Amino acid sequence: MYDYDDQNIFAKILRGEIPNRTVLETEHSLAFEDIAPQAPVHVLVIPKGAYVNYDHFAAHASDAEIADFTRAVGEVCRQTGAAVADGGMGYRLISNSGEAGIQDVPHFHLHVLGGKVLGKILP
Ligand code: 5GP
Repeated sequence: MYDYDDQNIFAKILRGEIPNRTVLETEHSLAFEDIAPQAPVHVLVIPKGAYVNYDHFAAHASDAEIADFTRAVGEVCRQTGAAVADGGMGYRLISNSGEAGIQDVPHFHLHVLGGKVLGKILP
């Protein structure tokens, strides 16, 4: 069972109650700069729908939402110059979920990190 809290910060951003620095907006997705960037490129990409995490999104979002989100993430990688094909250094996609993932904001989001060598996180 997925319990979505519509008072979370990203829900407020989607409703326009909190400002954001938008990188890309599509029909079903929004991408904006992280307020506390951990790399020269640090963008958050979220679906506009009320999904708590990746598995919630994957199970319940429509094919149109999933396609839109997938393409939006790729577009952010290109627009921020992170994509190698565009001369960037590459990027890392991260999605934290729940207690184990140390998720702070309970609205599904992907972190797009790049612009520097990020260091190894897996052995
Ligand atoms: P999490 O830990 O849930 O994966 O990541 C949440 C991210 O949201 C953090 O990187 C944090 O800096 C970012 N964040 C938290 N509050 C705000 C906000 O009000 N605006 C923006 N743009 N980012 C936020």
